[in-house]
This record gives sequence, C-alpha cells and structure tokens, in this order.
Amino acid sequence: MRNFEYARPETEAEAVELLGEHDGNTAVLAGGTDLLNLMKAELVAPQRVVDIKHVDSLHSVTADDDGVQIGSLVTLDEMQSEPLLAGYQSLQDVIRGVRSIQIRQMGTIGGDLCHMPNCWYFRNGNGLLGLEDGKSVVAGGDNRYHAILGNRGPAKFVSASRFAPAMMAWGAKVRVIGPKPHHEQWIDLDSFYRTPKTDRQGVTLLKPGQLLTHIRLPSASRLLSASYEVLELEGLDWPLAAASAMLNVVDGVVRNARVVMGHVAPTPWESREAAAAIIGRPVTEATAESAGEAAIAAATPLSENRYKVRVARTAVKRAILAAAESARPENRREV
Ligand SMILES: Cc1cc2nc3c(=O)[nH]c(=O)nc-3n(C[C@H](O)[C@H](O)[C@H](O)COP(=O)(O)OP(=O)(O)OC[C@H]3O[C@@H](n4cnc5c(N)ncnc54)[C@H](O)[C@@H]3O)c2cc1C
Repeated sequence: MRNFEYARPETEAEAVELLGEHDGNTAVLAGGTDLLNLMKAELVAPQRVVDIKHVDSLHSVTADDDGVQIGSLVTLDEMQSEPLLAGYQSLQDVIRGVRSIQIRQMGTIGGDLCHMPNCWYFRNGNGLLGLEDGKSVVAGGDNRYHAILGNRGPAKFVSASRFAPAMMAWGAKVRVIGPKPHHEQWIDLDSFYRTPKTDRQGVTLLKPGQLLTHIRLPSASRLLSASYEVLELEGLDWPLAAASAMLNVVDGVVRNARVVMGHVAPTPWESREAAAAIIGRPVTEATAESAGEAAIAAATPLSENRYKVRVARTAVKRAILAAAESARPENRREV
C-alpha cells in the first residue's frame, strides 16, 4: 500500500474541501470494507483518504410525506432495523442475502452504491476493461461471472452494487455534493451509473472530489416490491444474477411496474420489456414467466456464462411473484 494522508472531516463542507485538493486524487472512506482492499492491491492510490464517518448528517434516516431520505453512512444492519425502511421489502430482501455479519455491521449503503466491480481481471490489475496489450482478456477468458447484457462494448464486468437494482426500481434519487463548495445536485439513480468505454472512466458519474451524501426513496405505501438474488450460498457471496420488482397493483391488475436486474450487466439493468409483459395483467406464474422471458430476450452471453441467462430469467420471475405475494395480509409490513 502506498503512503497517504488521512483526513477526518466533521461536516459535509469540510469533506468536499478535503476531497477537492490534490487535484481530486483523493478517496472517500466509508465503512472501508472494500476501499482498503483496493488500496492494498494498489488498484487505487489516493494521495489523501477522507474518512467521512464523523460527518453526522450522513448517518440519519428521515421521512416526510413524499418518502424517506437515507444517509450514505447508514449501515446494512441499521437499514434492517430502521422502522422507516420496513415497508421497502425489496431492500430488506437484499440485506437478508448479505450473510456476513461483519459486512452488515461495517458496510454502508453509500459504499455499496459506489462499489467498484468484483471482476477478477480488474482485481488482478488488468484495469476495469480487463485488457492485456490493449486486447480484452475477458472475452476469451474465464468470464463465468461476467455480463450477459450490455456487454457488446469493451466493458464485460458486472455492476457490483447489490442495492442499486432495488433502489432504481423504487425510482431513487441520490444527492451528490462537490467538487466545488456549495455544489449540490439530486440525480436519478437511473442515470448515475455508466458503462466505461476506456479504463480511465469510472462506473458512476461521480467526478473526483464529489461525495454521495443521501438517497431519497418515494413513499412505499400502496406499492409492492421484492428482490430475488440467486446466490451460490458459499459464505461471502455475490449473486450470480438478481432482480428487483416494484409493482402498483390495483384490483388484482398491475397498473405500473419497474423491473431492474443486477449482476447481469456493467450497470444495474432496467428491463422495460419485463415490465411491459405484466402491466395490465394480474401477476400469475404465467405472466411472471413471460416477464422473465422478456427480460433476457436480448441477452448476449459470453463463452462461459450462458447459464446466467436462465438464472436471470428465474430471478425476474421470482422477484415479481414475491412482490405480488407480499400483498397478502400475513406478509404485509407497516411503513
Ligand atoms: C471480505 C469482504 C467480503 C464481502 N462480502 C460481501 C458479501 O458477501 N456481499 C456483499 O454484498 N458485499 C460484500 N462485500 C462488499 C462491500 O464491502 C459492501 O458492499 C459494503 O456495503 C461496502 O461499504 P463500505 O462502506 O465498507 O465501502 P467502502 O469500502 O468504504 O467504499 C467502497 C467504495 O465506494 C466509495 N465510497 C464509499 N462511500 C462513498 C460516498 N458516500 N460517496 C462516494 N464514494 C463513496 C469508496 O471510495 C470506495 O471506492 C465484501 C467486502 C469484503 C472486503
């Protein structure tokens, strides 16, 4: 690990100021469960690490008539026990799937949303695109966990965030501050992620010196949601594929729906086709199945990951069925 300065701001303004120096060659430290690994492997080498844990405004969950606002430092355990988040079943489903108690205690929602890919080529030093002598080693290599959608360009990794699909299905917005003092914007999570075309680009819109401070979710009342992750169940584990569904069901018919898949593409992957397959219909095995089929119709699997197409289809089907199932009185939780 290279030497670095350590800074510990206590306000958002101080954090932005500290992140903006050194030409933005700085890194945000939240729970640190991934950043420290990236630094040890010298995959990132910031001149300064800005530990945001002492910025009080980033720790809270608050609610108003329009929804809830979650600070980026809220941990997965805190999300699970927070009454204001009890009605967001799709988020609770994801938390239950993170089986490491250490990660649930230390890992933060901001750290999850900004997580760098777990692609082993990236982690072994081949850059985000997995290049060797300018050529992709992923396309012809061990790509069993890589993308099956959105993979025609040079990026073949899958987005690592476990919460982004559920948050996107809810129509979340994120608050980003910096790099200049008083710069503040709310961005739809839909447009927060990007697929890099070069190794120098990142996986989100965040520029050096910027900080994600809060996530805003609309009110959960009268909406149904669920996430379904297909895991190998080997302890510390990332999904092979996942899906989150958010449904507005009136008189047994789906009036509106969003379906977002995870771990299948370089970004969280919204399937409008899957939503279209269930809107105007009741949720049944057959309609959920057709949504699953629609979600993977355009898949372009790589040499070793054809199996993920089937897994993703099942995740979509089961997320939709589980969301509909949550309407039953015995499964309902208060918001
Ligand atoms: C051994 C190990 C096992 C793991 N196992 C699992 C697992 O089984 N399942 C799982 O889902 N995850 C797992 N994780 C992943 C991960 O650590 C979690 O997803 C966690 O939520 C990340 O949060 P953090 O606060 O620790 O992030 P950090 O490590 O602090 O940050 C992660 C990245 O996000 C950036 N960042 C953090 N917060 C912000 C912010 N507010 N604004 C801008 N950038 C920010 C950091 O600079 C860094 O690049 C594992 C990690 C490790 C090290």
